[in-house]
Amino acid sequence: MDRLVNLPPEPLKPEESQCCGQGCQFCVFDTYKQELLIWQRKCKELETCQLEKNTKMNPETYVDCVIESVEPVCPSVFLFHFKLPENHCMEFSASQHLIARESTSNSTISRPYTLISSPGLVKKFTVLIKLYDNGMMSNIIKRKWLTGKVVSWRGPIGQCDYKPNSYRNVLMIAAGTGITPLYQITKLIIDNPDDETRVFLLYGCRTYSEIIFQREFHQLQDYWNFKACYFLSDDENQDAETLKRHNEEIIYHKLDEETLKEMSVIKQSDSLRVYLCGSKAFDKKIIEYLTKIGIEKSSIITF
Ligand SMILES: Cc1cc2nc3c(=O)[nH]c(=O)nc-3n(C[C@H](O)[C@H](O)[C@H](O)COP(=O)(O)OP(=O)(O)OC[C@H]3O[C@@H](n4cnc5c(N)ncnc54)[C@H](O)[C@@H]3O)c2cc1C
Repeated sequence: MDRLVNLPPEPLKPEESQCCGQGCQFCVFDTYKQELLIWQRKCKELETCQLEKNTKMNPETYVDCVIESVEPVCPSVFLFHFKLPENHCMEFSASQHLIARESTSNSTISRPYTLISSPGLVKKFTVLIKLYDNGMMSNIIKRKWLTGKVVSWRGPIGQCDYKPNSYRNVLMIAAGTGITPLYQITKLIIDNPDDETRVFLLYGCRTYSEIIFQREFHQLQDYWNFKACYFLSDDENQDAETLKRHNEEIIYHKLDEETLKEMSVIKQSDSLRVYLCGSKAFDKKIIEYLTKIGIEKSSIITF
C-alpha cells in the first residue's frame, strides 16, 4: 500500500545480544512482537482513514489506471501491476473482478479480469492475464500494455458467498487461468486462523510450467488444511518428475470421473462446497461428473 500519511516511527528490533536466551516470561523479543503488532494496527488505521477520503472505484464508471510493472509468470501469462489515480481507491473482496476497456480502430472492447492482489481498501491492484494468439484483447495487451500505459478499468464486480466454517471441506477445481478466483478464496480460508475448513485443490494444466501460483500453493501446503493435486494433460513423458521443485502431487491425465469418485473428500459430501472455474467445456464436464457421483448442483459454484 502507498504510504499516504505520516506514520508513527517503527519500533526498533532488539539485537540478538539483548536476549539472555533463558526463556524469560517477558522476553525482549515478545515485547517487540507486541509493539510491532500495535504499530502495524495503528498504521493500517491511519491509512484506511486517509484512503476513505478518496473516491471509491465502482462498477459503473471507468477509471484510468497506470501500469506500474509487468511480470512474466509462465508461457503467455503475465502479472500486470496497476496504480489507481491520485484521488481514487478501491475496496474489493476475494474473487471479485474488474472490467478492462480498450479501443480498436472504430469501437471499444471490454474483458473481465480477476483481482489477485490482497483484498481490502487499496490504491494498487494486480491482475494475472493469459494472452491468446487469436484473442482480440490479448493482441491489444501484447502490443500496448507496457509500464506507464494507462488502461481504463471499472469494478469491482461479483460477490463471493463463502462464509468461514460453513463447510467441513471445500473442493477447488480449476483449469488454466480459472485458478485466479479460486486462489483468492483459498487464501481467504487459509489465512484465517479461525477458519477450520479444509481446502482441496484439483488443478488441471497442460504442462508443469503452466501451473500458475506454483510457489504460492507450495507455501500453503505447510498448513494442515490445504492440499493440492495437479492434473497434467500434455506431459506423456512425465517431464514434470524432473522439473518439479516442490514434491507436488502430480497425476498425468485429465481430471476424470473415476479420480473424483475415489477422493475421500467427495465421500464426505454432506458438508462440501465445490468452487469450479475453467473453460465453459471444462466446467460442463466436471459438473456432469460431480452430479453423477451424487454431489448436489446447489453445492457447486461456478464463476
Ligand atoms: C468473470 C471472469 C473473470 C476472468 N478472469 C480472468 C483472469 O483473471 N485472467 C485471464 O487471463 N482471463 C480471465 N478471464 C477471461 C478473459 O476475460 C478473456 O476472455 C480472455 O482474456 C480472452 O480474451 P481475448 O479478447 O483475448 O480473446 P477473445 O477474442 O475473446 O477470444 C478469442 C479466442 O481466445 C481463446 N480463449 C478466450 N478465452 C479463453 C479461455 N477462457 N480459455 C481458453 N481459450 C480462450 C479462444 O480460442 C477464443 O476463441 C475471465 C473471464 C470472466 C468471465
